[in-house]
Amino acid sequence: MIYDAAVIGAGAMGSAALWRCSMRGAKVIGFEQFYPGNDKGSSYGESRMIHAVSFADPYYTPFVLQSMHIWRELEDVCGLSLVRSNGALITATADSVFLQKTEQSAQEHQVPYTLLTSVEHNTKYPQRIVRDNEITLYEKNAGFALPEACIVNMAEQALLHGADIRSGAKVTNIAWKTDTAVISAEHTEFKARRVIFCAGAWTKWLIPDLHLPLEVERQVQFWTLPCRAEDAEPGGDFAPEQFPVFLHEYAPDSLMFGYPSLDSRTIKLVARQTGQITHPDMLDRIAHQEDAEVVTAYINTFLPGLIPEPLNAKVCMYTNTPDKRFILGAPNAYPTAILLAGFSGLGFKFAPIFGDIAADLALTGATAWDISQFSPDRFQENN
Ligand SMILES: Cc1cc2nc3c(=O)[nH]c(=O)nc-3n(C[C@H](O)[C@H](O)[C@H](O)COP(=O)(O)OP(=O)(O)OC[C@H]3O[C@@H](n4cnc5c(N)ncnc54)[C@H](O)[C@@H]3O)c2cc1C
Repeated sequence: MIYDAAVIGAGAMGSAALWRCSMRGAKVIGFEQFYPGNDKGSSYGESRMIHAVSFADPYYTPFVLQSMHIWRELEDVCGLSLVRSNGALITATADSVFLQKTEQSAQEHQVPYTLLTSVEHNTKYPQRIVRDNEITLYEKNAGFALPEACIVNMAEQALLHGADIRSGAKVTNIAWKTDTAVISAEHTEFKARRVIFCAGAWTKWLIPDLHLPLEVERQVQFWTLPCRAEDAEPGGDFAPEQFPVFLHEYAPDSLMFGYPSLDSRTIKLVARQTGQITHPDMLDRIAHQEDAEVVTAYINTFLPGLIPEPLNAKVCMYTNTPDKRFILGAPNAYPTAILLAGFSGLGFKFAPIFGDIAADLALTGATAWDISQFSPDRFQENN
């Protein structure tokens, strides 16, 4: 049997690609070395922020807007709530490029937003105190997704549409023939016309010939308790309805991401810090005392209602490109391959639309979306 497409990795991108390929009637097989919704890749830890505005480039916004439609489609077919729109508060100094880009993306793509002065912010959201020279952009339709549940449900939809998904199946080799690829996994060979690479942090070692300049960076997610336990409970100050997700550029190139309590106990914080560059199989999965220092200092300065020392932590990975733009498309060297990689700590919110675009490319050879800025060949062109 020759599959129309083989998907390597069933994390965020892979489960989306499997779903979107299979729902179009394609014969598709997926390989996942662990299982969909695992806690070893880059898509775990209770929540992922979703906002249409972009501090990086307005180019990203239409992709997220379309993803939101597909997330809702997933919720409809599953009958589950997987993405919550509790709003996002995006704070930075008024003169920052970060805030200018964010507002520009909203304006260019008609994303509803409001701007809050520090006084307005601190009156409405006293849980987090921002400084006098800071402005906050509030995007009301933003919020967060439940990553593990999203992945499991996309994989389940793929199975329901006839996809073959192999868990515990590590791809060990891909041999390229003229019009098919032979994929080795589970001591067996599988043939497919197209190979969709969604291997996250492992991608560059799966296709070493491409010399993709991907760096895997260790990052830590922290959970902390409120000073008053009831503040995390439904209706409390840190419950989703009262506490939108937030993104704060609190110093140049220093970002803090915050989430409401989803377990009625803890609040999640993630500092975008310079982490150890590593191989995913060698990742130091233990959170050390020094990992928490930035989060503790942030709580001491901005979040008076939280206990500064985190209760729990989970180590995760960013897979960065040199320009922090994603990789999405077919490389010249392997036209039958489609790469989805290098999401640089921002990718989850794009998974549905990128899965759909991967299906376009795999099944029709083209997409109506402008993905030129994500070309896998741009690094070769720069050399
Ligand atoms: C701490 C942290 C916070 C983040 N916060 C946000 C956020 O708020 N919002 C947002 O949009 N994004 C966020 N991101 C980024 C986002 O989570 C990632 O960009 C996205 O989840 C990556 O998805 P992926 O499918 O590329 O990788 P993964 O989900 O890791 O999937 C890759 C899969 O491939 C499998 N695999 C690898 N090699 C093989 C092989 N040889 N054979 C079979 N299977 C293989 C792996 O086991 C894995 O399951 C965050 C990331 C981190 C680490």
